[in-house]
Amino acid sequence: MAPVIDIHVHIQPHGMLKPAVLEFVRRNRLDFAQVERFCADPPAFLKYLDRAGVERAGIISSVSPEVIGYTAEINDWTVRYCSASTARLIAFGSVHPQYVANAGDEVDRLAKMGIRALKLHPPHQLFAPNAYRHGLSALATLYERAQALGLPVMIHTGTSIFPGARNIYAQPMLADDVAVDFPELVVILAHGGRPLWMDEAFFLVRRHKNMYLDISSIPPQKLLLDYFPRLEEIADKVLFGTDWPGFGVRDVGENIARFKSLPLPPLSQRKILYENAARLFPLRK
Ligand SMILES: [Zn+2]
Repeated sequence: MAPVIDIHVHIQPHGMLKPAVLEFVRRNRLDFAQVERFCADPPAFLKYLDRAGVERAGIISSVSPEVIGYTAEINDWTVRYCSASTARLIAFGSVHPQYVANAGDEVDRLAKMGIRALKLHPPHQLFAPNAYRHGLSALATLYERAQALGLPVMIHTGTSIFPGARNIYAQPMLADDVAVDFPELVVILAHGGRPLWMDEAFFLVRRHKNMYLDISSIPPQKLLLDYFPRLEEIADKVLFGTDWPGFGVRDVGENIARFKSLPLPPLSQRKILYENAARLFPLRK
């Protein structure tokens, strides 16, 4: 079986969530006990990935003190978790430019710790991806350092229904400035702007040479018909991801099977399921 990279998985410490958020997650996840077990036990999660046919997974959280509850400590937790297998678990870190003394130093610190990419979650972090053009200069510093170090930045695009999320920041077009001002920075638009702004995401990925699309949280069976009918045109810049255990994402293996049943040429499937992500995240010796 050809290997798969799931670039977008949320394995995280539930104990650090705000109580209301934890309650929300618990209510929306019938298999919460299993999710909790995987978050506490990396080898158990790696076995789950084996069963799903996943070689590597991006482990993602974001610093969001106001909405989610996570502080910069989340990065240390993620690195510790991924140390169970740095070959298979790709650690995504997060810097909130309004909660650090120096965003550049923090990006450096994360890179030294083994963080491979940064996650920005504008609707949960409560600033726009281009807020550096309107006074948040620490955000420009973050992008500059990430660009210099070759760390991809994944930006959440698309609506969030978490209590307190502000969807005014969820629009993909806000990331256009980022690609204009930091042309060598690899930017991954998570979720392709679902469910309101897929056309914006598609335009941006075609416009900017270093902009990519992650299809996580989009039901695979609807991907071509309802979301991205012209997906094949950007097959070199699309990354497979599930967003597991996001609401509505029951099982990683099931999502892969559904993706594989789509009428896409085998070469495009391979690029999306593995090769594009393998190029962005080369295996480290
Ligand atoms: Zn996500």
